[in-house]
Amino acid sequence: MHLHTSYEIGGPAQLYALPSSQAEIIRLLLFALEHNVPWMVVGKGSNLLVSDDGILGLVISTDAYAKLTKDENYISAFCGVSLKELCDFAQENGLSGLEFASGIPGSVGGAVFMNAGAYGGEIKDVLYCSKALHPVAESLTSANPVLHIKAEEHDFGYRSSAFQSKGWFHLSSVFKLEYADPDAIKAKMEDLHEQRWSKQPMDCPSGGSTFKRPEGYFAGKLIQDCGLRGYSIGGAQVSEKHCGFIINKGGATAKDVSDLIKHIQDTVLERFGVELHTEIRKVGRW
Ligand SMILES: Cc1cc2nc3c(=O)[nH]c(=O)nc-3n(C[C@H](O)[C@H](O)[C@H](O)COP(=O)(O)OP(=O)(O)OC[C@H]3O[C@@H](n4cnc5c(N)ncnc54)[C@H](O)[C@@H]3O)c2cc1C
Repeated sequence: MHLHTSYEIGGPAQLYALPSSQAEIIRLLLFALEHNVPWMVVGKGSNLLVSDDGILGLVISTDAYAKLTKDENYISAFCGVSLKELCDFAQENGLSGLEFASGIPGSVGGAVFMNAGAYGGEIKDVLYCSKALHPVAESLTSANPVLHIKAEEHDFGYRSSAFQSKGWFHLSSVFKLEYADPDAIKAKMEDLHEQRWSKQPMDCPSGGSTFKRPEGYFAGKLIQDCGLRGYSIGGAQVSEKHCGFIINKGGATAKDVSDLIKHIQDTVLERFGVELHTEIRKVGRW
């Protein structure tokens, strides 16, 4: 899985599938259910810490399920489309609203699942509706297996959505955007790109912000104030550029990252009494 995660970390998946149609996704889910095979879906792997022992069962990658279409000011994107492709497509078509997301290195499915956000914008602000699968046999074998989820049914919160609580498989979403000058949209995207690259360690493998923002604080500032800038365990290091990021400075194992996370959590709790909760998701056999 180190080939499929932005951390460049993770042991093997027992089974790895790349479906390119809805029918193939349904067949894979039914196969897993029938044979009692644990399964999980992976988008671009930009928010995952996969264990060194890898993943038991089936990993369903959405990479090959990627299609973009436009109807007036609505864009429909399959789950495997990258946010960058989606944002570039919107810009080329003079549609504004997704500029905030253009530098987030994930897929549409992962972004909806996480309610990804940056620079004052969140997926929930532009999402119109989604299609999903409920991964239970009765639903998958029914005449109409696809759930149609309205915007308000996504139950969006800070880095959370109904996709987490309900366990749905995200198939696609429609985004409602505003007409605007393509050059102005491009300028905004470039400005945010510069801000991101000047403040975040974008040139090192990482999983983005390690921790969610604790109420009333910034995780990066708390970590910095504990004197942990540049602190490392094995190949995992608190980024010198932005303490909210843990980077893989070369050869880091999942255990290195996990141990560093624990060390940071313990230090920040002891020093400031603040609990840090991870934004990155630990998956696989720990
Ligand atoms: C350098 C860097 C910068 C980042 N900056 C930001 C930022 O500014 N804002 C932000 O919000 N995030 C940021 N992230 C984190 C990450 O990019 C987002 O969380 C992104 O939305 C994850 O998408 P993904 O496709 O990579 O999901 P993955 O990491 O592949 O998966 C994340 C979760 O989503 C689930 N999932 C993925 N696809 C589906 C699907 N089709 N159906 C159901 N579940 C699914 C997975 O099972 C998993 O639990 C950053 C990451 C990096 C590496």
